Amino acid sequence: MVNYQTGILEPVMPQQEEIMKNHFDRLFLHSKEESTEYYTHAMRWAQDVLGQQFSSNNKPYSGLPYEEFTKLFDRTFQEILPEDETSIETLFKNIGNTILKHSIIVSNPTCLAHLHCPPLSVALAAEVLISGTNQSMDSWDQSASATVLESKIVHWLNNLFFSSKQADGVFTSGGTQSNFMGLLLARDRYLKKQFNWEAKKDGLPSEASKLRILCSKEAHFTVRQSAFLLGLGEQAVIPIETDSEHRMCVNRLDRCLNELSKEGLLPFALVATAGTTDFGSIDPLVELATRANHYQMWFHVDAAYGGALMLSERYKNKLTGIDFADSITIDFHKLFYQPISCGAFLVKDRTDFDLIKLNADYLNPEEDEETGNPNLVTKSIQTTRRFDALKLFVSFHALGRKTYADMIDYTINLAQKTATLIEKDPDFELVNQPEMNAVVFRYRPDGKAHSNDSEWLNKLNQLIRRKLLEKGHTVLARTRVNKFVYLKLTLLNPRTSIKDIQSILNEIKQEARKIREDG
Ligand SMILES: *Cc1c(COP(=O)(O)O)cnc(C)c1O
Repeated sequence: MVNYQTGILEPVMPQQEEIMKNHFDRLFLHSKEESTEYYTHAMRWAQDVLGQQFSSNNKPYSGLPYEEFTKLFDRTFQEILPEDETSIETLFKNIGNTILKHSIIVSNPTCLAHLHCPPLSVALAAEVLISGTNQSMDSWDQSASATVLESKIVHWLNNLFFSSKQADGVFTSGGTQSNFMGLLLARDRYLKKQFNWEAKKDGLPSEASKLRILCSKEAHFTVRQSAFLLGLGEQAVIPIETDSEHRMCVNRLDRCLNELSKEGLLPFALVATAGTTDFGSIDPLVELATRANHYQMWFHVDAAYGGALMLSERYKNKLTGIDFADSITIDFHKLFYQPISCGAFLVKDRTDFDLIKLNADYLNPEEDEETGNPNLVTKSIQTTRRFDALKLFVSFHALGRKTYADMIDYTINLAQKTATLIEKDPDFELVNQPEMNAVVFRYRPDGKAHSNDSEWLNKLNQLIRRKLLEKGHTVLARTRVNKFVYLKLTLLNPRTSIKDIQSILNEIKQEARKIREDG
């Protein structure tokens, strides 16, 4: 309503709307007292039920089967979106008694299945700040200081991994996205250089069916996934045999490159893995870099798992040669102990990002480039993006490099001790001397009937793993090497001790004995 004396608009709100607005006020975090009260109340309940989950539980999993959990859930929550409000107390208590109670406790020392780390407490506190401020990393005007911090961390990572001053990078949701970005840039740079072709504008040229990506047969499946997402098909990926240490075999690679050039095929990317998912093996980076350079292939290093070794004085030399990479994948939600999700993609030459640069008028218009305020969306395939850099920064400061290095060294040492225990035990067969902190082995009772029957051993090992999961004491991984089923201990947790390992091995034996007695 306009006040005709002053000419100023004076807002008048109907009473009904006023009531509604006051009701909304409570739901968001701002300066009013009822807002902070509500927020604190909700946070306290979240903390309480979370704390309870960790204090009342000494098993990684309750063991409740899928169908029973489904029923429990339906009994507790009749609806997904109820018509009316539920009180915070009731809601969080119910969540605690169902969802939290039957989730996997990844911080348990006997939860050793995957490359899935216990998150640092201080990073959990940082998550509160990340979600509380809800910055979005796509544009400067949605993040400001957050853009600066992410850029500074990327710069620091570049110094850690590369010697190039031209390097750049961006935070990602993890290894999948980073590997995809590496191969995307690889494809587009190759097409530009070889055929003066702009894939961004024109899609794929007819030669695309000849493009090939080389990686070891132990490389992560997202290399194949990226190939088909990039329109090249899985056929574009050529898996190279590995040596006895599960590293890419350089002789095989040479032979393959020779054959490809005879056939007129176009290898454009070589993917090395620094820390394979199963064995933690590290491909010979220097040798592979030489080949990549000679054949003008993009050299991508998937260091999702192994990248953290760079923090350890003792083990960083395992990554010698990583600085030859054109691009690097790092996951912080593995050996950097960050809550999911948190990763980075680094590229040696920042101008390669131009290959995927798009300008959206509403987000990062070209005229913004003149102001110098960076809009990070230009470097990312993700638009709205979390300020995950903050939790890594908080963790770096709260722990310091030395504690990080100690944790990495401890877990590698534990893996070596574990391997020795397994090797010495006649009922087990060790597959690898751990390069990092993963140990692969199987139960194979010495001198017993069937111990050479691989079908029987496969079934037995599978069953052992399932029984242990059902009991909930131990969560192990399983993998296949050639045709054999193996068990895997992924020793990321620096709170796991050799005593825990001993009792897991005993439990495996007990379970195996029971299975064999039951026929
Ligand atoms: C975990 C992992 C990936 C996939 O990363 P996400 O973070 O799960 O997307 C890729 N490569 C390697 C070697 C990995 O260990």
